[in-house]
Parts: sequence; structure tokens; C-alpha cells
Amino acid sequence: MGLEKAFNNYWLIHAFVYVILYLCVPFFEMMAKELQIYRIAFVGLKPGKHIFQYEIDRSFFDLFEASPVKDGVLKVELELDKKNGFFMLDFRIDGTIKSVCDRCSEDFDLELMDDHSVIIKMEAIEHHTDVQEDVIFISPADTHLEVHQLIYEFILLSIPMKKAHPLSENGEPTCGDMIQSYFSTDEEVSEAEEEVDPRWKALKGLKK
Ligand SMILES: [Zn+2]
Repeated sequence: MGLEKAFNNYWLIHAFVYVILYLCVPFFEMMAKELQIYRIAFVGLKPGKHIFQYEIDRSFFDLFEASPVKDGVLKVELELDKKNGFFMLDFRIDGTIKSVCDRCSEDFDLELMDDHSVIIKMEAIEHHTDVQEDVIFISPADTHLEVHQLIYEFILLSIPMKKAHPLSENGEPTCGDMIQSYFSTDEEVSEAEEEVDPRWKALKGLKK
């Protein structure tokens, strides 16, 4: 009897695991598809400049579990210059990310516009002579470049130290513009009412 019960449990657990895995398949497929976009098969590229354009949104940031940025809309243009044995990559970032204003703690769209360059050298580890900043080494046996990690890091590098609502033409913070405009229309309404209501006018006259 005990054995039969254990046997049933065994199948139950297996069925459960299979169902969970089955349900996860679309998620893994989505992740793989998202990553595929950022995979450049450079072996097939002619020497010279090539342009790649990426539309970044929430699904991109979902790839990075610990990302401090959760959402945004950005265009990233990558200019890849294929040279002999190395690549020059130039990333132009333009768009907005969802952020919280340091001044008023409200959510707002923080504008990012920045340019980052990196050199990728194809060189075996034993030949690495100089450890330079902005130089990444890949194996001469590699055939693809995965640029999602670079794009992610460059977006984070583009975020200014102080994140706040932009300043107006007069140099005033635009924090709470929504609230201010709400109050100003309210004032206009009451002013209009003042003009209409003669009793209010009379009261005002008494005050004087
Ligand atoms: Zn603000």
C-alpha cells in the first residue's frame, strides 16, 4: 500500500515538473528571440562601416534582472567599423527612461542622449599586451558579437548623477507642472466667478 502511494506521488511530481517546464517554454523562447536581435554575425560582414539600429523598451531591461532601469523608450544606433583584426563600435543613445525626480520624488521621463565607443580586438589571451580601457578582447575563433550587454552598460553610463525634471526657459524647475497648472486653472475659474457673482463683488467692496 505504502509503495503504491509512493509510486503515485512519483508520477504526480513528474507531471507537475513537466507542466511547469512546458509553461516556461514561451518565456525562454521570448528571451532567446530578444537576445538574437543583439547578436551580430561579423564573419559575414565586409570590411568598413555598418549601421545597426535597435529599439529599446521594457522587454530589453527585463533581460537584466538587477537593472536599476525597469522601463524606457530609446533608440540606439550602432556604427560598427570592421577593420583588420579589430572592430570600432560607436553607440549613439537617444530616448527616455522612467526615473524618479531627485527634487520632487515624482516619476518622470529622463532624457538620455549620449555617445559611447569601444574597440573590440580579436586576440588570443596569451597575446594581450596592454590592458586598455575601452578595449575588449575576443577570441580569434569567435564569429559573433553580442552587443546587448554593451548597450545595457552604456545606457546606465549615460544616466546623469542628478536626475530631475528639466529646467524651463527661465531656469525654473518644471517639477509639479501638472499640479501648478491644475491650481492656475482653478484660480482662473474663481476669478471668472467673482466677476459674475455681484454678492462677492459687494463683499469685496466692504473689505476695502
Ligand atoms: Zn521633479
